Amino acid sequence: MASEFDLIARYFTRAAPAGLLGVGDDCALFSVPPGEQVATSTDLLLEGRHFFSDVDPTALGHKALAVNLSDLAAMGARPLGCVLGLALPRVDEPWLAAFAQGFHALADAHGCPLIGGDTTRSAHDLAISVTVFGAVKADQAFLRSAARAGDDIWVSGELGAADLAYRLLDGQYPADPQRLAATRGALERPEPQVALGLALRGIAHAAIDISDGLLQDLGHVLAASSAGATLRYADMPVAAALAGLAEAPLRRAVLGGGDVYQLCFTAPAERREAVLAAARAASARVTRVGEIRAEPGLVVLDAGGRPMAELPRGFDHFPAA
Ligand code: ADP
Ligand code: MG
Repeated sequence: MASEFDLIARYFTRAAPAGLLGVGDDCALFSVPPGEQVATSTDLLLEGRHFFSDVDPTALGHKALAVNLSDLAAMGARPLGCVLGLALPRVDEPWLAAFAQGFHALADAHGCPLIGGDTTRSAHDLAISVTVFGAVKADQAFLRSAARAGDDIWVSGELGAADLAYRLLDGQYPADPQRLAATRGALERPEPQVALGLALRGIAHAAIDISDGLLQDLGHVLAASSAGATLRYADMPVAAALAGLAEAPLRRAVLGGGDVYQLCFTAPAERREAVLAAARAASARVTRVGEIRAEPGLVVLDAGGRPMAELPRGFDHFPAA
């Protein structure tokens, strides 16, 4: 039977890059270049709440880090390293090996080495907590409060696929293997938009990553910026796999669907060409979907230019009764 220390040595200890003290001491050590601040964020993933118990462990390792890298992307921060807290109901080494592989592969792809963590036994479910550290020049971080009236609102990637995959897996829709195959990657292996976040430094004003649904997440930007917005539904980058869905579930997926891990950001209208060039440099797709207004409120115009009456709500762990 492997001990806690065997497991850490086998699956979570990698040679740390030069200049950094990684797994094995009481603390990890890393430096931040002069003039930069540490950007840090943590996300807790619970079995049954954030992922299905039978999810592919490689994909889960990927996603546990991806949702955190996505927060760095939304600040325009460059990854420095991460730590991983694991509460395991049992020791299942093939599962751990696959989880670690998915985690380290994404960490390597983004230069975000695993430099520490904690491993304990859980009485019940699996819990995963990841904290990331990044570096950003203080005046270049994309604050939620930085949207300005007249800014364009942009969305990266596509919308809706993760919501559809979730509802298919959750049994809310009749089984549809073809649609599930086309959307599952978006839910289980989101690609954090770190390169886009970095490319947008000095161009974008406010940014947020879409984790709880476009309307809800943009709502946080509007509240922090004391501003309003108009969105054009017809301009939304809808995932191709949603073709043929009825209107109500389609709107819900596009406007309210969570787990997207793409960026919603604002930038001055004069910087459109710069935004497009940044997206090209980052090999990302970006779509202009609306404008920030001075008057508060979030209006979504339908294809005929009329405000939509009923807007889907995003995800909230503690909804008001
Ligand atoms: P401590 O008793 O000081 O908390 P531990 O015995 O828990 O130390 O951990 C030993 C070393 O292994 C530490 O450097 C810690 O950061 C690292 N570590 C423990 N669990 C993990 C994990 N899941 N991923 C990465 N590093 C880990
Ligand atoms: Mg410990």
